[in-house]
Amino acid sequence: MLFRTLPKADFQTLVERILESNEVIAPKRVAVGQNGKPIHQYLPVEAFDEIELDYEKTDYSAKTYFLPYEEALSRYEFNGADWEQEIRYRVQPRVLLGLHPCDINGLVKLDRYMLKGLFPSPYYQARRENTLVIGVLCATTCQDGFCRAVGASEVTHGFDLFLTDLGDRYFVTIGSDRGNQLLGNVPHSEVSEDDKRDYSTARARFNAQPQTDVQMQNLASLLDIEFESDVWRKWGAKCLSCGNCAMVCPTCYCYGVREEMSMDFGSSTKTKQLYACNFLDFAEVAGGHNFRPDQGIRLKYHYYHQHRGFLEQHEEPKCIGCNRCGRVCPVGIHPVGVIGDLQDEEASEAS
Ligand code: SF4
Ligand code: SF4
Repeated sequence: MLFRTLPKADFQTLVERILESNEVIAPKRVAVGQNGKPIHQYLPVEAFDEIELDYEKTDYSAKTYFLPYEEALSRYEFNGADWEQEIRYRVQPRVLLGLHPCDINGLVKLDRYMLKGLFPSPYYQARRENTLVIGVLCATTCQDGFCRAVGASEVTHGFDLFLTDLGDRYFVTIGSDRGNQLLGNVPHSEVSEDDKRDYSTARARFNAQPQTDVQMQNLASLLDIEFESDVWRKWGAKCLSCGNCAMVCPTCYCYGVREEMSMDFGSSTKTKQLYACNFLDFAEVAGGHNFRPDQGIRLKYHYYHQHRGFLEQHEEPKCIGCNRCGRVCPVGIHPVGVIGDLQDEEASEAS
């Protein structure tokens, strides 16, 4: 890993140069919430001034730019007995700027499934390879998040450049050759002893900020033990099966595929659409049998995939602790509450 420092004025120059010929997606203020705090989303920007790097958290994750809600996988044209298939997954180079450590870790977890799984996705791969990621250390921790508890507050790869704010300059961690080349477009410096000291201070300040305290040790075993727990019935009774939690989750990738034929049978389209394991028909099969007819069971499997199944396959939880699911849930179902209830249940059984 290489480290450099970059004066903030030169960082602005760098972004303006990128903007001249590339799409740039960055945290942008879109509204002010009822609590008076600004609301940000990752959106395409046209000028440096639109970017706000001291944001808290976006409602939607960056997943949207790699796994869009809906995408055409292929198109077919039928001509007599002949037919042609068209598949497009080319993406123009673009820069995703301002991702926090948790969201970069979310992309790394998506990579495990979408690039390194049994069936790598060329669509995802094209977007990932053509998107340069510039991360930034959070200005403040989001207090309802629990990234530290799930090990997502530190990021070591999955980015091209990573910025830590040192006041008048950025401490830049270079994560790839193309990141190094990009940085070469503007003046930057080797790190000095003062830079290293200021970097350590900035990291320590970040780590000292308060965050939701949730105990994640032994969670996989707890989930095994509490498989039949009433906790699932209690939280499941509230669940509306709306799927909002999976849609905003940076690491949920379930999907469905549909084929649509034109009325004249001359063409058809195969479309992929994100799906949610909480949806009523998620486990319904041909013939109408539903393996998970109860919303409590579906909610349970949602949690099992986040904290048990993915861990077994990849030795880390799928969840990055952002609590976007908790924020968006219309009935107040959130990981800290559900996991806390399971822990209370286990404690009461032990006493
Ligand atoms: S399950 Fe919830 S807290 Fe975990 S990564 Fe998904 S949205 Fe974030
Ligand atoms: S957002 Fe809440 S109500 Fe909707 S499916 Fe998820 S847990 Fe259930």
